[in-house]
Amino acid sequence: MLNYNSSRIILVLLVTIYLPIAWYLQVSYYYTLFLIVTFIGLVVWGASFITSNFFIKAHCKGKTNEKVISITFDDGPNGTYTPLILEILKKHNIKATFFCIGKNISENIELATQIHNEGHVLGNHTYNHSYWFDLFPTGLVISEISKTSVAIKRIVGGWPNLFRPPYGVTTPNIARAVRSVSDLKIIGWSVRSLDTKKTEVQILKRVAKISPGDVILFHDTNQRTVNILEQYLQLVSEKGYQVVPLQELLDVGAYD
Ligand SMILES: [Zn+2]
Repeated sequence: MLNYNSSRIILVLLVTIYLPIAWYLQVSYYYTLFLIVTFIGLVVWGASFITSNFFIKAHCKGKTNEKVISITFDDGPNGTYTPLILEILKKHNIKATFFCIGKNISENIELATQIHNEGHVLGNHTYNHSYWFDLFPTGLVISEISKTSVAIKRIVGGWPNLFRPPYGVTTPNIARAVRSVSDLKIIGWSVRSLDTKKTEVQILKRVAKISPGDVILFHDTNQRTVNILEQYLQLVSEKGYQVVPLQELLDVGAYD
């Protein structure tokens, strides 16, 4: 499998074998430049797409042929939109996973407790959701994860096992940090709603395309998601699909 380690080995082989041969045969420098640019492109691709499993394995889709999917909400809890989403989920008896920002949990303890009490899972989505998170050194990544895990443990009583990195970006430092926390698993997605950017019609069109085992990514931070959620759940049901808890779909424990 092409991942960070195997591509580093390929680069070392290129440098130690290709470069002397290229120098001896007087191959154009453009070929060498092309290989280096390709390597950098590969690393950027691996960092940007959580489904690539480039730096670390991410659980993005359930291995099943049954018509089941899971729904996740990122970036809450949000005092305005999370309660509306919880109401719709309750009405349809659906259990979801909320990848919460630690700072938002600390500011909305009652709401985070309500999410848990209503049978949903609280996942870790870092403490500050920094725009620069993918550039953080390992120590800072660990601190972002552990502060959020402490906030979640206060509510649910156990350490959270499910971690979703902001923007779905993975880097060697994030991979190292996650490996240092026992049982922590990176959770990605297979269907991205882009509900923070797109119109309601566009969002519905994106999330309507489902296949067995899909993990849907929403955000409990805007009105558009609230507006389309009920219609979406009906659509999923009309297609003969069932929404199941994420930990069941991916066969992972939510807490330790
Ligand atoms: Zn996020």
